[in-house]
Amino acid sequence: MPGNATVTSQRAPIGVALLGATGSVGSSALRVLSRHPHRFVPVALTAHSNLAALQQQVSQFKPSFVGLVAPSAADVPADWGAGPGCLVEAATRDDVAVVINAVVGAAGLQATLAALRAGKRVALANKETLVMAGDIVTETARRHGGELVPVDSEHSAILQCLAGRDPSDVRRLIITASGGPFRTWESERIAQATVGDALRHPTWQMGAKITIDSATLANKALEVIEAHHLFGIPYDRIDVVVHPQSIVHSFVEFVDGSVLAQMGVPSMELPILYALTWPERVPDTGVPTFDPVRLGSLTFEPVRHSDFPMLQLGISAGRQGGAAPAVFNAANEVAVAHFLDERLPFAGIVDCVSAAVEAHGTMPGDSLDALLAADAAARAYVHARVGS
Ligand code: NAD
Ligand code: MG
Repeated sequence: MPGNATVTSQRAPIGVALLGATGSVGSSALRVLSRHPHRFVPVALTAHSNLAALQQQVSQFKPSFVGLVAPSAADVPADWGAGPGCLVEAATRDDVAVVINAVVGAAGLQATLAALRAGKRVALANKETLVMAGDIVTETARRHGGELVPVDSEHSAILQCLAGRDPSDVRRLIITASGGPFRTWESERIAQATVGDALRHPTWQMGAKITIDSATLANKALEVIEAHHLFGIPYDRIDVVVHPQSIVHSFVEFVDGSVLAQMGVPSMELPILYALTWPERVPDTGVPTFDPVRLGSLTFEPVRHSDFPMLQLGISAGRQGGAAPAVFNAANEVAVAHFLDERLPFAGIVDCVSAAVEAHGTMPGDSLDALLAADAAARAYVHARVGS
């Protein structure tokens, strides 16, 4: 075993494309990469529209490719990629072996597929990709030899607990949920929650969309669907438990009744590094030392399903399959955007998503085009319902 790390460190650094570099996961990923310059080099960086933030990263990391998806006016340097196509361009470059997909939302799908088709490793934070088109994404990986490695902390935990074991050894996955900012709130108060309330996540610092998803528990529904596709475990063997401290990142129960958990302080840097080095581990001192005494009690409680209906709604869409998960995801993205714009109350998110799944969940979902059509129909439906 000791030989492995030495061999890895003597190889030329691995080229990494980082999609969504300016986001929460993106900036954590750059911190991880900058601690391991002999192993990894960011050769391609993309962002949506934050030119100043991207420019700052470019001057620090000097990537060979830079892409801005939605530049305003003519403010993009001449040698940068521009427009949505720059994600695929970054993800399929010859000098890229690993693509960290840290884009938020369905916009990350084409780049994930293109990278897998090109046989790359995709370190996937962009869970919406798997929810929308899980069968197609996993089949693309299988067919072309691409690797799909989760960045999401719960799925990284499961991957670490599985440690190469066969799915037939698994009885159950137990995914932990922080419970979000409204874990202890009465349902009437939750319905009135403001954007500020919903953005105040108790344990994780994240982008706005996933923070709202954590408040509704839509995020946990997306994660159950993500786990189903990543690990090939049926829905009736995936449970969710609320764990407010976010220290146990998930459990795997094996057929003999033994349960493994993966723990760590809540920092995305750990699962990001593991997605890059899996199945190896490399020395890293970036996250604070684990001190069980200081952490104190770890507690677990059931989900209050009646107060957080998004979880069951999303899992039902996952079970239904076809276009239903794509519709759930797309409707949720649009509803969350309207909530963030203060055009929809907090309780309106689940109303919109539930009505969209009802209206469009049975659309065909047997091809990428069909899924994209269902995604578009769900978006149009929610926009119309909110009146935009
Ligand atoms: P964020 O909003 O902080 O960052 C999103 C990034 O994607 C930004 O760089 C932005 O420029 C880019 N982007 C946004 N829209 C885009 C588009 N249409 N096309 C191309 N690029 C676009 O989000 P985040 O919190 O970093 O989350 C990113 C992804 O990782 C999400 O799928 C989220 O669910 C997942 N995730 C995040 C965390 C976390 O701790 N933040 C944890 C687990 C999973
Ligand atoms: Mg997660």
